[in-house]
Amino acid sequence: MDLTRLTIGELADLLRAHETSAQELLGLHLERIDDADGDVKAFLRLTPQLAAEQARAADRALKEGTAGPLTGIPMAVKDVLCLSGVETTAGSKILRGFRPPYTGTAVQRLIDAGAVVLGVTNCDEFAMGSSTENSGYFATHNPWGLDRVPGGSSGGSAAAVAAGESVFSLGTDTGGSIRQPAALCGVVGMKPTYGRVSRYGLIAFASSLDQIGPFTRSVEDCAVVLETMAGHDPLDATCADRPNDVRRGLDAGVRGMRLGVPKEYFDVEGMEPGVKQSVQRALRMLEASGAELVDVSLPHTDYGLAAYYIIAPAECSSNLARFDGVKYGMSDQDAQNITEAYMNTRRRGFGSEVRRRVMLGTYALSSGYYDAYYLKAQKVRTLIKRDFDEAFEKCDAIVSATSPTVAFPLGAKTQDPLSMYLCDVLTLGGNLAGLPGISVPCGMSNGLPVGLQVLAPQWREDTALRVARAYEVASGMRVEPALV
Ligand code: GLN
Repeated sequence: MDLTRLTIGELADLLRAHETSAQELLGLHLERIDDADGDVKAFLRLTPQLAAEQARAADRALKEGTAGPLTGIPMAVKDVLCLSGVETTAGSKILRGFRPPYTGTAVQRLIDAGAVVLGVTNCDEFAMGSSTENSGYFATHNPWGLDRVPGGSSGGSAAAVAAGESVFSLGTDTGGSIRQPAALCGVVGMKPTYGRVSRYGLIAFASSLDQIGPFTRSVEDCAVVLETMAGHDPLDATCADRPNDVRRGLDAGVRGMRLGVPKEYFDVEGMEPGVKQSVQRALRMLEASGAELVDVSLPHTDYGLAAYYIIAPAECSSNLARFDGVKYGMSDQDAQNITEAYMNTRRRGFGSEVRRRVMLGTYALSSGYYDAYYLKAQKVRTLIKRDFDEAFEKCDAIVSATSPTVAFPLGAKTQDPLSMYLCDVLTLGGNLAGLPGISVPCGMSNGLPVGLQVLAPQWREDTALRVARAYEVASGMRVEPALV
């Protein structure tokens, strides 16, 4: 049996039956990384010593009978999540050499639950992008086709799970950066409700949109990881004090549920016929399982992209002001004065997409333009939120494709930022409205994975997970790692 192909649930059973150990699992995954990562390039750095210590502790817990569902399970962490003492760079040269003095809450909760950290995964610089090609280091390749992108910005985390290098991983989703790479790599990926998971220790991109979430091989695994990370944290004022009910009714099925099909999400620009067909097949399967499909409308969909690309850059221009060469990471030593030092550090440290967004955001926030751009975008955000509120009066969840296309060739969109931005038309509405959303694999088109997106009302992760789980059961879908 190849233990790098199993789910958290299956491995937890084997661990508890002492048929494998945390240390054996760690060794097997490091071997798999050794074999595959030269091609996939999912990892920026490995943490074998830390992992070995954690695996030994996990084996002790297993022996003493104090193990939980994540004890001894290997995981990988996106390079925007602070890990104490481990170089964390947000995929950027400007943070080279930065070792955070603390670990973020979400990661710490998983470590406390016994998960074993294999290493840090590649991503677009400061999570800005949809292909991981904006990484300040190198591009990650899709395990299903090495000439293809894995999606982004959490492409390294998605590819690591898809290639059998890690059992699960963490990403962040500001406009789609968990769901879109999950779709393109054929794994499960979830963005929780804004405020469900603490952002403490997450290097911020756009603070009103960012959420941390899991990549896994099954919907149940996704629920387990989310449940472990979720919940109130006094260190993040936007993290809500809500019941941790994400696993409620996971296996209840979709009989009697109303699933909204938004026409605007099926007519978006660039929707590939193969993607549309796979998603429509998935919807029929959900219908056959007892769900009722209802037409809904999200009339402001067309304005979502424009609003997002004002709000996200505006917030990033403020968040990234702290990277000045004084406090963190890289610092220009040749400057004649402090202004020149700031300018040189930021010019050399930031890549072109980050500089583009800082300029866009600074412009949109400057006096005289604030009302025309930022305020207008916030009003559109409210309209989009209202579209969802109205749609959810007619349905329990909204279903669509996650991405209009399958994984595209490396380099295909790097010269045209607008075509890259279009990758997120179906996901970013969920961020603007703060909703939970999950992507589950729903077949292949041209030999590449397609993702089904399920969006649910705020705090109804249970609904999104339940619909995704029902699809997984009805389709017999099993996430098999792509073996490069
Ligand atoms: N692709 C989108 C962007 O570039 C979303 C990124 C994300 O979710 N982090 O902003």
